[in-house]
Amino acid sequence: MKCNQKHKFMQISLIVFIVSLFACGARAEDTNEEETVIEDFFICRTCGNDVSVANLAFDKYSPFALSATNHTFTDTRSVLVQEVENPLGIRFHIFLVKQASCIKIQPWTHKSTWFPGYAWKVCVCPKCHTLLGWMFEPVESATAEQHFPTHAGFYALIFQNIITEGYVNSLLMKEKVLRDN
Ligand SMILES: [Zn+2]
Repeated sequence: MKCNQKHKFMQISLIVFIVSLFACGARAEDTNEEETVIEDFFICRTCGNDVSVANLAFDKYSPFALSATNHTFTDTRSVLVQEVENPLGIRFHIFLVKQASCIKIQPWTHKSTWFPGYAWKVCVCPKCHTLLGWMFEPVESATAEQHFPTHAGFYALIFQNIITEGYVNSLLMKEKVLRDN
């Protein structure tokens, strides 16, 4: 590129050219990294805060489940939804994920667990403090210092309190189509 130093316009053009080269380089580097495709986000139905991702959902049967059905969250992800009851007689539909976002809360409880061998504590939304579900941790590692489940633990989320981002977007698209027609 010919660049006459006396012409300010050319200088500016060159700077723009170099900046765009660096920007392109950065983008090329990013695409070389191995990427995990997020299937969908699980978000708090009350406030829209990110809670987990569909990729982290897994199935584990509770011997205390009153019923169990499969729910299709995404095109590729079907998740076991179980109905459980707490000692107060309140029933919940739950599904399990390996990781979730919850506030740091009270000690683990060993009583009335839905998963034998696991202690539990509640999972509350860090943003709006809605009850999102429960955290489970093997009894032997459920110590006062262990605030959140380890890789051996998991999270049970309340089906009614979680919504997927894909579903929210599909609602927004439907609304837009209705507006446009
Ligand atoms: Zn929330």
